[in-house]
Amino acid sequence: MADAAKPGKVWLIGAGPGAADLLTLRAARLLEQADIVFYDALVNAETIALAVRAKTVAVGKRCGRLSAAQRFINKRLIDAAREHDTVVRLKGGDPMMFGRAQEEIDALVAAGIDCEVVPGVTAALAASAQVGVSLTRRALARSVTFATPSVGLDEAPSDWAASVLAADTAILYMASRDAGAIATALIARGKPAGMPVAVVRNASLPDSEVLFTTLAGLCAGLGGDGRPAVLCLGEVYREALQRACAVGLQGQHSGDLLWPQAANGRC
Ligand code: SAH
Repeated sequence: MADAAKPGKVWLIGAGPGAADLLTLRAARLLEQADIVFYDALVNAETIALAVRAKTVAVGKRCGRLSAAQRFINKRLIDAAREHDTVVRLKGGDPMMFGRAQEEIDALVAAGIDCEVVPGVTAALAASAQVGVSLTRRALARSVTFATPSVGLDEAPSDWAASVLAADTAILYMASRDAGAIATALIARGKPAGMPVAVVRNASLPDSEVLFTTLAGLCAGLGGDGRPAVLCLGEVYREALQRACAVGLQGQHSGDLLWPQAANGRC
């Protein structure tokens, strides 16, 4: 049994993009053994339910992203490790992608607590699987960027657009609310207005949606509905966009394939 003199171990675990069966076997085994689990807002209830003997604690903070809240989570992890052998910090997707894992690792190391990361399927990869288009389609794309235009209240602004301009394919996280401004900024910086875009909401989940447009079409913005989404940009999506437009122009849509009004008729 852990105590302050001999603390337990904290596992930072990636829960994957949503579907519970995209969890790694290692993550599932650790969840079964866990004494306490701190989980984020985007983690599926089915995944949390694998922690059969653990106390489960919600520590989600979608939006806001206040450093005070992060410091409080760090402290809770340290306190938990001084009481329990197996502490799990369960994060959506992969902990090392836009997941504030570093703050937690640094705080745990500073407190002398052992910690280890278990990777998960990040949203960009689940979205690519959903769309069925390779991020590095041969002859079209040899570089990929995962970026976010979103900056926390306590962070300096970043030149996120530079990394999007430099890559053949770009996946933008935390970007759907400001999609209009993002598309406008990218066109102003030299991305072609006709660059194909796929928007993937709730990748891997039964209510996921894929919407195809162009950067010009995206300038009108996207109605957010609370489901997390990634914006996928690049020539690799052109064929899929053309197929979606062909269906759209006939006034039909099939399955989870949607298209925005802005793109209709001019793709
Ligand atoms: N660590 C996570 C990312 C956390 S940031 C990961 O590796 O995936 C939260 C952002 O991730 C959301 O705003 C959205 O852009 C994206 N996201 C998370 N789950 C998603 C999903 N199922 N489908 C589409 N985007 C998702």
